[in-house]
Amino acid sequence: MRSDTCQHTAIIGAGIAGLACARALDAAGLPATLFDKARGAGGRMSSRRLPDAVLDLGAQFFSVRNATFRRAVEGWHKAGSIAPWPASLWSAQAGRWQRHEDDLERLCGTPSMSAVTRHLAKGLTVKAQTRIERLVGSAGQWQLVDEHGEHHGPFTRVVISAPSPQAHALVAPHDATLAEACEAVIQRPCWAAWALFDAPLPALPGVDDDWQAVRVNDPRLRFVVRNQLKPGRQDQGESLSLLANLEWSEVRLEDSPETIVEALLDAFQQALPDGSRLPEPSALGAHRWRYAQPDVFAGGEAVNLDYRLSASGLSLCGDGWRGPRVEDAWLSGHHLGEALAADAI
Ligand SMILES: Cc1cc2nc3c(=O)[nH]c(=O)nc-3n(C[C@H](O)[C@H](O)[C@H](O)COP(=O)(O)OP(=O)(O)OC[C@H]3O[C@@H](n4cnc5c(N)ncnc54)[C@H](O)[C@@H]3O)c2cc1C
Repeated sequence: MRSDTCQHTAIIGAGIAGLACARALDAAGLPATLFDKARGAGGRMSSRRLPDAVLDLGAQFFSVRNATFRRAVEGWHKAGSIAPWPASLWSAQAGRWQRHEDDLERLCGTPSMSAVTRHLAKGLTVKAQTRIERLVGSAGQWQLVDEHGEHHGPFTRVVISAPSPQAHALVAPHDATLAEACEAVIQRPCWAAWALFDAPLPALPGVDDDWQAVRVNDPRLRFVVRNQLKPGRQDQGESLSLLANLEWSEVRLEDSPETIVEALLDAFQQALPDGSRLPEPSALGAHRWRYAQPDVFAGGEAVNLDYRLSASGLSLCGDGWRGPRVEDAWLSGHHLGEALAADAI
């Protein structure tokens, strides 16, 4: 029997880690309320909806290595929220393109990356457009204060799944150990640009016409994706997502989006085989991810601890506690949810 049927958990951040944590609590019959500053769930798996196209500007796909994650992914597959992608992955260096082949299973959301987090959010309570600025209270009696000064709670426990620098600001006044743990996780920035085209891209000599994604070896640019060749998007026109290198993004973090997209399109033009030219884009832009991917992360499988749980009732999960991928973020949130559920029995 549960000691307290009113054990209610607040989860700050409705990215994949926060959602995985909420689902694990829900499976144990424990209520949770998610809060996110964005317009909806998704975090770094969200997609941008333009009048003529849906673009993934964060995670482009995810891989499956872990058996527990695989079982969850099978459920998403059955629900029609994901599909295998890419079938045609290439790598490019100084105009030379080669097909990239390996045995790794890669999948993406359909009809957009955010389909995964939408699926996970079904039936959960998500308070969107609610930026939590501080916590007040103590163990067992936490209140969340949002940017308008409104108080939410009380909650028995608070999970923070925001990237570590943002989590740090919330835990520092209450828990020095958690704050120190956050300081040890480095989240690096990444620029993600996009371009729409009225005309199709030119055929590239020696490359399949339906190439879907290419890894680019360039100091500025690392990955380019054709959004309309992702599953469920065949009705939209040609559009590219262009992900910058993390080191380059760090140096150019405060540049304007216009300068960034110009530089990344130029890098891609240089990566095309000789004589191939990109058509003129009809629309373009760039998104700055301040905390894109953990470069130095804490815990991980090696020490069998991919979240942080404190006696104060505050806990931390997300990719920063395990590794730089969607799979890591999901596992971190899922394991924390299971630990909290076990603790509540
Ligand atoms: C450009 C880019 C490309 C990537 N490509 C890949 C890829 O191809 N494959 C892969 O596996 N991974 C990729 N990743 C990494 C992957 O997206 C992340 O590891 C994963 O999505 C992190 O999930 P999360 O739940 O830990 O964090 P997030 O998704 O960042 O969720 C945290 C949430 O907290 C919210 N939040 C923060 N502060 C507050 C606050 N004070 N109050 C309320 N809400 C708050 C945010 O709005 C956000 O929704 C990529 C990431 C980026 C940025």
